[in-house]
Amino acid sequence: MAPKIDITIYPGNIINNEFVPTPTTRHSVDPATGEALYEVPVARKEDLDAAVSHARAAFKTWSSTTHEERARLLNAFADAIEANRDDLEKLQTMEQGKPLELARTEVTMSLQWLRAFATMQLADEVLEDTDERTIYSTRVPLGVVGAIVPWNWPILLGLGKVGPALMTGNTVIVKPSPFTPYCDLKLGELAAAVFPPGVVQVLSGDDSLGPWLTEHPGVNMISFTGSIPTGKKVAASCARTLKRYVLELGGNDAAIVCDDVDIDKCLPKIATLSFLNSGQICMLCKRIYVHDTIYDKFRDAMVEFTRNNVKTGGGFEPDVVVGPVQNSMQFELVKDMYAQIEKSGWQVALEGKVRTSDKGYFIEPAIIDNPPEDSRIVVEEPFGPIVPLLRWSDENDVLERANALETGLGASVWSRDIARAERMARQLSAGSVWVNSHFDVAPTVPFGGHKESGVGMEWGLEGFRHYTNSRSLWVWKKVFS
Ligand code: NAD
Repeated sequence: MAPKIDITIYPGNIINNEFVPTPTTRHSVDPATGEALYEVPVARKEDLDAAVSHARAAFKTWSSTTHEERARLLNAFADAIEANRDDLEKLQTMEQGKPLELARTEVTMSLQWLRAFATMQLADEVLEDTDERTIYSTRVPLGVVGAIVPWNWPILLGLGKVGPALMTGNTVIVKPSPFTPYCDLKLGELAAAVFPPGVVQVLSGDDSLGPWLTEHPGVNMISFTGSIPTGKKVAASCARTLKRYVLELGGNDAAIVCDDVDIDKCLPKIATLSFLNSGQICMLCKRIYVHDTIYDKFRDAMVEFTRNNVKTGGGFEPDVVVGPVQNSMQFELVKDMYAQIEKSGWQVALEGKVRTSDKGYFIEPAIIDNPPEDSRIVVEEPFGPIVPLLRWSDENDVLERANALETGLGASVWSRDIARAERMARQLSAGSVWVNSHFDVAPTVPFGGHKESGVGMEWGLEGFRHYTNSRSLWVWKKVFS
């Protein structure tokens, strides 16, 4: 029988399968109402030390469990999450702000991810096999993994680290963003009912906890998702103990729309993938390059579609696509980007609006009409519901512009001529490139960034490898015969 969570109480951090309370607590706010949510623990350094020492002890046995045993427990964890999914989805909308339907999608994806991870295994590779010797390439777990999670997809991005870390034989300590600690703490509670003590632990804390985790000598790897500036700090901190790390960082994806597209067919997808989750997704259409010959028609259709179909409001309201911006800090950043419209004299196709009368952090979508290539809305990741449309006419020129930034997370090419689109796609420097789509992800497909968008990959067997060391095993068979 699956355990039942109560989303209104957070008795402590999840350490060694127990609730460990802390002397101080804090809370986040519901970004749609500005109201305080529940009190959660604030981990101290000694709480982290305890979690690390339990994780190290648990590693000794967990690292030698079979693939079947790990898969069985990961599936049981997925079942426990599924049994509580209604509460988790509601909680996700309350803490993150995303529309309930999108919270449902996040949980559905997370279950699919965990169950797929449970089927994946890094098999030994035989590099040479003769009468004399066999040489294998084997993979061994690293030890204790620190999983640092951002506030935009706390469930999927958290479990997207936990699954591969566990399946490769590591133990894991999850650190949610202080803006969104709730669902991750509840996932820790469910994990405690399934896994042996010390295998999965979750610590909620303040801004000190991330740096403590990255510099901790008892932690062997950091899997980090977040912003580029923080990613650089994480890398510098890991360097002191030569920890392994994977960094999934920000992006500013180009979508290149060619002159032969069927606007009616591709536009709903492009527009939706510009504003989904209020633009707070690392891989979205963030710079839309539209061919000059269809630019005006595309722009007008995008404005009309967005006006009629991309509703802004609280996550529990029906048909909302753009929920509130997640937190006050991000609200100020996005507001500042909107303020640039007037300051920089950008033309607007759709004006957008910061709702100042509401208690929540609501901002309506804006579409900027062909701003200069060096303007902030083109070169910076806005992480809000605002997107520039840019004209292009020469293929080489648009590829150069798409590749010009220091980010390289995702990119897309839209065309009926698949051969041409694929040829263009192969020239884009990004970790994921799509033809006639954007933001497709799957648990079996590696995902990560080029340039400053990241180091290493998550998901897929390539993602699994990052949670392991390579061990070459030479077996000589004839020395004594
Ligand atoms: P952030 O960098 O502010 O925080 C991410 C996490 O790091 C949080 O848990 C935070 O508490 C922690 N943290 C902060 N300072 C730290 C430090 N010095 N050491 C260790 N940990 C620290 O990012 P955010 O604002 O939560 O997320 C938004 C950013 O994340 C955007 O730039 C977005 O593009 C990016 N993102 C990337 C991906 C991806 O997979 N590539 C996915 C989602 C979001």
